[in-house]
Amino acid sequence: MLIFQSLTKTELSDALLPLSEAREERDLARISDDLERKLLLSKIEKKKRKQAEMRAKQLFHWVYQRYVTDYDQMTDIAKDVRSWLKENVRIFRLEETFSKQSDDGTYKFLWKLNDTKTIESVIIPAALKEKIGEEVVEALSDGKRYAGIETDRVGLDRELDSDSWARLTACISSQVGCAMACKFCLTGVQGLDRSLDVHEVVTQVHELRMRAPITNIVFMGMGEPLHNVKNIAKACQILLDEDGMNFSKRKVTVSTSGLVPGIDELYQSTDVSLAISLNASTDEQRSQIMPVNKRWNIDQLLDACRRVPLGGHRRITFEYVMLKDFNDSIEDAHRVARLLKGIPAKVNLIPFNEHPGADFKRPEDETVMRFQRTLLNQGYTTTVRISRGRDILAACGQLRSLFGTARGTEKHRDYGKSAEHA
Ligand code: SF4
Repeated sequence: MLIFQSLTKTELSDALLPLSEAREERDLARISDDLERKLLLSKIEKKKRKQAEMRAKQLFHWVYQRYVTDYDQMTDIAKDVRSWLKENVRIFRLEETFSKQSDDGTYKFLWKLNDTKTIESVIIPAALKEKIGEEVVEALSDGKRYAGIETDRVGLDRELDSDSWARLTACISSQVGCAMACKFCLTGVQGLDRSLDVHEVVTQVHELRMRAPITNIVFMGMGEPLHNVKNIAKACQILLDEDGMNFSKRKVTVSTSGLVPGIDELYQSTDVSLAISLNASTDEQRSQIMPVNKRWNIDQLLDACRRVPLGGHRRITFEYVMLKDFNDSIEDAHRVARLLKGIPAKVNLIPFNEHPGADFKRPEDETVMRFQRTLLNQGYTTTVRISRGRDILAACGQLRSLFGTARGTEKHRDYGKSAEHA
């Protein structure tokens, strides 16, 4: 059986092709002339292809824009096609095992996969509506009903509504666990269970969109997306489809710890935005906290960034987790500025989200501001990410640890339980 969310629109159309019909097929029997027959056959082929493409388009609308997951409700699709779909193409749903909203609006979800493994997604609200515009309002305009039909949109305990937030970013997982073992990351200590399939990635966004009008997507949840690059590139194609979720390439960001070959491969099939988890100003420093740097060093990583076909004033985001007395000095800031020279770059500083058992501390606010000022003075747009959802364990891997569904998290589990009950 095929899974709807693993198919691009073209693949869905190919699957539907054998169901297409053209009236002209009846005329074939009475035509004996070879050339005439050939011409008619080609006309029939084109008509059938067009019909299949149209049906794939309609189905994308129903599922991704109208939030309907029951074929019987898709009234403009022929009955025999709907029966075939029920037998052959399953619309996948993720089982929500837990969700919780933080005081700052961050909403965290834990999903159970078919093999009982769990993954996390987070909705991160940002900026008040007046500051950004009307897109959220548009995204919500179809509500819970579409053309008189009950949709499968899901309510949240507290609505993430159009009046409160201008940007709702979905932070999506790409793997169950992660193999990259970054020293500052809780998922890093959990190790890798497996990579996610295309439908498991696409459905995280689909499920979140059934609950809130998501405007942006970042692949910064559990896992290294480029360690699963084929599936992530295909998932991005589906997320960007104009007849489906219709995300702009500027609003979908893949974040990597520095798997250089994956950067090149990603841009062979999609051109979403890129973020690099840099976190150090020298190779020596970076190799201490990110083992990937021993295989592909900073120079090789930045060369790959220079090869990215950005275009249209787009910039690469460089994420920099600030670790107290490790990578937060003024000298570090100057070195980062020198490294990024010539790359259309913006920098996002992330003061470390401390948790008991962690080997690092969060720098003082003054240190973070000094670092930011240094980069701003060198001409780099530099933002500081405020820690979101600390009261609900929104940092990567924390929720999964709390539920004891990850390996290697023993030293963090007690914290999870006490924080949950605090
Ligand atoms: S920071 Fe990202 S790449 Fe590194 S271990 Fe964590 S999830 Fe993996």
